[in-house]
Amino acid sequence: MYATQEATGIAMPDAVFANIGKLLLATQIYDMQRLAHEVSGGLIVTLPGPDEDHNPATAGRLSEVLTARSDVPYEKRIAVARFIEDLTASYQSGWYSVISLHGGGSPAAMKKEIFRRYPIADRVELVENLLDRGMLADARRRISINRQPGRCCAEGCKPDN
Ligand SMILES: Cc1cc2nc3c(=O)[nH]c(=O)nc-3n(C[C@H](O)[C@H](O)[C@H](O)COP(=O)(O)OP(=O)(O)OC[C@H]3O[C@@H](n4cnc5c(N)ncnc54)[C@H](O)[C@@H]3O)c2cc1C
Repeated sequence: MYATQEATGIAMPDAVFANIGKLLLATQIYDMQRLAHEVSGGLIVTLPGPDEDHNPATAGRLSEVLTARSDVPYEKRIAVARFIEDLTASYQSGWYSVISLHGGGSPAAMKKEIFRRYPIADRVELVENLLDRGMLADARRRISINRQPGRCCAEGCKPDN
Protein backbone atom coordinates (compact mmCIF):
# COMPACT_ATOMS: atom_id res chain seq x y z
CA MET A 1 0.00 0.00 0.00
CA TYR A 2 1.76 3.17 -1.20
CA ALA A 3 -0.96 5.65 -0.22
CA THR A 4 -3.61 6.21 2.41
CA GLN A 5 -7.01 7.84 2.06
CA GLU A 6 -7.57 10.88 4.24
CA ALA A 7 -10.96 11.53 5.91
CA THR A 8 -11.60 14.14 3.21
CA GLY A 9 -11.23 11.43 0.55
CA ILE A 10 -7.87 12.75 -0.66
CA ALA A 11 -5.24 10.10 -1.32
CA MET A 12 -2.00 10.79 0.57
CA PRO A 13 1.04 9.12 -1.03
CA ASP A 14 3.44 7.21 1.20
CA ALA A 15 6.01 9.84 2.23
CA VAL A 16 9.04 7.53 1.98
CA PHE A 17 8.23 6.11 -1.45
CA ALA A 18 7.12 9.50 -2.82
CA ASN A 19 10.38 11.09 -1.70
CA ILE A 20 12.46 8.22 -3.05
CA GLY A 21 10.72 8.66 -6.42
CA LYS A 22 11.42 12.39 -6.45
CA LEU A 23 15.01 11.81 -5.30
CA LEU A 24 15.57 9.37 -8.18
CA LEU A 25 14.27 11.92 -10.66
CA ALA A 26 16.42 14.66 -9.13
CA THR A 27 19.60 12.64 -9.19
CA GLN A 28 19.11 10.53 -12.33
CA ILE A 29 17.91 13.18 -14.78
CA TYR A 30 21.44 13.82 -16.06
CA ASP A 31 22.11 10.11 -16.50
CA MET A 32 18.82 9.80 -18.41
CA GLN A 33 19.98 12.58 -20.72
CA ARG A 34 23.40 10.98 -21.13
CA LEU A 35 21.82 7.64 -22.06
CA ALA A 36 19.52 9.36 -24.57
CA HIS A 37 22.53 11.13 -26.10
CA GLU A 38 24.55 7.93 -26.24
CA VAL A 39 21.94 6.10 -28.30
CA SER A 40 20.87 9.12 -30.36
CA GLY A 41 24.32 10.03 -31.63
CA GLY A 42 24.98 13.58 -32.77
CA LEU A 43 22.00 13.50 -35.11
CA ILE A 44 19.78 15.29 -32.61
CA VAL A 45 21.83 18.50 -32.91
CA THR A 46 23.14 18.20 -36.47
CA LEU A 47 19.90 17.43 -38.32
CA PRO A 48 19.04 19.74 -41.18
CA GLY A 49 16.24 22.08 -40.15
CA PRO A 50 12.59 21.53 -41.13
CA ASP A 51 12.90 24.13 -43.91
CA GLU A 52 15.53 21.91 -45.53
CA ASP A 53 13.87 18.53 -45.09
CA HIS A 54 10.53 19.96 -46.22
CA ASN A 55 12.12 21.50 -49.30
CA PRO A 56 11.12 19.35 -52.31
CA ALA A 57 14.52 20.02 -53.90
CA THR A 58 16.49 18.50 -50.99
CA ALA A 59 14.01 16.28 -49.08
CA GLY A 60 14.54 13.21 -51.26
CA ARG A 61 18.32 13.36 -50.98
CA LEU A 62 18.20 13.91 -47.20
CA SER A 63 15.90 10.95 -46.65
CA GLU A 64 18.29 8.84 -48.71
CA VAL A 65 21.43 9.72 -46.75
CA LEU A 66 19.79 9.92 -43.32
CA THR A 67 17.83 6.66 -43.36
CA ALA A 68 19.34 4.02 -41.11
CA ARG A 69 17.18 0.88 -40.72
CA SER A 70 15.21 0.27 -43.87
CA ASP A 71 12.03 -0.53 -41.93
CA VAL A 72 12.10 2.79 -40.03
CA PRO A 73 10.97 5.63 -42.32
CA TYR A 74 13.21 8.71 -42.43
CA GLU A 75 10.32 10.93 -41.28
CA LYS A 76 9.84 8.83 -38.17
CA ARG A 77 13.56 8.82 -37.39
CA ILE A 78 13.88 12.61 -37.60
CA ALA A 79 10.66 13.11 -35.62
CA VAL A 80 12.16 11.04 -32.78
CA ALA A 81 15.51 12.84 -33.11
CA ARG A 82 13.81 16.25 -32.84
CA PHE A 83 11.79 15.02 -29.88
CA ILE A 84 15.00 13.93 -28.07
CA GLU A 85 16.60 17.26 -29.00
CA ASP A 86 13.67 19.13 -27.45
CA LEU A 87 13.79 17.03 -24.29
CA THR A 88 17.56 16.89 -23.79
CA ALA A 89 19.55 19.32 -25.95
CA SER A 90 17.48 22.47 -26.29
CA TYR A 91 17.33 25.65 -24.23
CA GLN A 92 14.16 24.20 -22.66
CA SER A 93 15.92 20.96 -21.75
CA GLY A 94 18.28 22.79 -19.38
CA TRP A 95 15.19 24.09 -17.62
CA TYR A 96 13.84 20.51 -17.41
CA SER A 97 17.08 19.45 -15.70
CA VAL A 98 16.94 22.21 -13.12
CA ILE A 99 13.27 21.69 -12.30
CA SER A 100 13.91 17.94 -11.99
CA LEU A 101 16.77 18.58 -9.59
CA HIS A 102 15.36 21.46 -7.52
CA GLY A 103 11.64 21.75 -8.31
CA GLY A 104 9.62 20.59 -5.30
CA GLY A 105 12.77 20.75 -3.19
CA SER A 106 16.45 19.90 -3.58
CA PRO A 107 17.78 16.34 -3.07
CA ALA A 108 18.86 17.31 0.44
CA ALA A 109 15.21 17.93 1.35
CA MET A 110 14.16 14.51 0.02
CA LYS A 111 16.96 12.77 1.94
CA LYS A 112 15.98 14.52 5.16
CA GLU A 113 12.33 13.56 4.76
CA ILE A 114 13.19 9.93 3.92
CA PHE A 115 15.50 9.74 6.93
CA ARG A 116 12.85 11.32 9.16
CA ARG A 117 10.13 8.85 8.15
CA TYR A 118 11.92 5.63 7.25
CA PRO A 119 11.40 3.03 10.01
CA ILE A 120 15.11 2.61 10.64
CA ALA A 121 14.69 0.94 14.03
CA ASP A 122 12.38 -1.71 12.53
CA ARG A 123 14.89 -2.49 9.82
CA VAL A 124 17.77 -2.63 12.30
CA GLU A 125 15.78 -5.08 14.39
CA LEU A 126 14.93 -7.17 11.34
CA VAL A 127 18.58 -7.45 10.28
CA GLU A 128 19.74 -8.12 13.83
CA ASN A 129 17.15 -10.87 14.21
CA LEU A 130 18.24 -12.41 10.95
CA LEU A 131 21.92 -12.24 11.87
CA ASP A 132 22.87 -14.89 14.40
CA ARG A 133 19.18 -15.59 15.09
CA GLY A 134 18.63 -12.52 17.25
CA MET A 135 21.79 -12.78 19.35
CA LEU A 136 22.71 -9.20 18.47
CA ALA A 137 19.29 -7.69 19.17
CA ASP A 138 19.28 -5.46 22.24
CA ALA A 139 15.94 -4.01 23.40
CA ARG A 140 17.70 -1.51 25.68
CA ARG A 141 19.45 0.34 22.91
CA ARG A 142 18.20 3.82 22.04
CA ILE A 143 17.29 2.83 18.48
CA SER A 144 15.23 -0.10 19.84
CA ILE A 145 13.31 2.14 22.23
CA ASN A 146 12.73 4.98 19.79
CA ARG A 147 11.03 3.13 16.92
CA GLN A 148 11.14 6.06 14.53
CA PRO A 149 14.20 8.28 14.89
CA GLY A 150 13.46 11.93 14.35
CA ARG A 151 9.72 11.55 14.94
CA CYS A 152 9.61 10.90 18.67
CA CYS A 153 8.90 14.58 19.40
CA ALA A 154 8.61 17.95 17.66
CA GLU A 155 12.36 18.55 18.07
CA GLY A 156 13.48 15.14 16.84
CA CYS A 157 16.41 13.09 18.13
CA LYS A 158 19.77 14.55 19.03
CA PRO A 159 23.03 12.75 18.30
CA ASP A 160 24.39 10.77 21.28
CA ASN A 161 27.67 12.69 21.39
C1 LIG B 1 11.88 25.46 -12.49
C2 LIG B 1 11.52 25.61 -11.05
C3 LIG B 1 10.19 25.72 -10.68
C4 LIG B 1 9.84 25.88 -9.35
N1 LIG B 1 8.52 26.00 -9.02
C5 LIG B 1 8.17 26.23 -7.76
C6 LIG B 1 6.79 26.38 -7.40
O1 LIG B 1 5.90 26.27 -8.25
N2 LIG B 1 6.49 26.66 -6.10
C7 LIG B 1 7.44 26.75 -5.14
O2 LIG B 1 7.11 27.00 -3.98
N3 LIG B 1 8.77 26.60 -5.44
C8 LIG B 1 9.15 26.34 -6.71
N4 LIG B 1 10.49 26.18 -7.02
C9 LIG B 1 11.48 26.38 -5.97
C10 LIG B 1 12.09 25.10 -5.44
O3 LIG B 1 11.26 24.49 -4.47
C11 LIG B 1 13.48 25.47 -4.89
O4 LIG B 1 14.30 25.80 -5.99
C12 LIG B 1 14.10 24.32 -4.11
O5 LIG B 1 13.41 24.09 -2.90
C13 LIG B 1 15.57 24.58 -3.82
O6 LIG B 1 15.71 25.80 -3.14
P1 LIG B 1 16.72 26.90 -3.69
O7 LIG B 1 16.50 27.09 -5.16
O8 LIG B 1 16.58 28.08 -2.81
O9 LIG B 1 18.14 26.26 -3.54
P2 LIG B 1 19.04 26.18 -2.24
O10 LIG B 1 18.21 26.05 -1.00
O11 LIG B 1 20.03 27.30 -2.31
O12 LIG B 1 19.72 24.76 -2.49
C14 LIG B 1 20.91 24.61 -3.26
C15 LIG B 1 21.69 23.46 -2.70
O13 LIG B 1 22.09 23.82 -1.37
C16 LIG B 1 22.10 22.69 -0.53
N5 LIG B 1 21.25 22.92 0.65
C17 LIG B 1 20.40 23.94 0.88
N6 LIG B 1 19.83 23.84 2.09
C18 LIG B 1 20.30 22.69 2.63
C19 LIG B 1 20.09 22.04 3.89
N7 LIG B 1 19.28 22.51 4.83
N8 LIG B 1 20.76 20.89 4.10
C20 LIG B 1 21.60 20.39 3.21
N9 LIG B 1 21.86 20.97 2.00
C21 LIG B 1 21.22 22.11 1.73
C22 LIG B 1 21.61 21.53 -1.33
O14 LIG B 1 22.72 20.79 -1.78
C23 LIG B 1 20.91 22.14 -2.49
O15 LIG B 1 20.93 21.28 -3.56
C24 LIG B 1 10.85 25.95 -8.36
C25 LIG B 1 12.19 25.82 -8.74
C26 LIG B 1 12.53 25.62 -10.05
C27 LIG B 1 13.99 25.47 -10.41
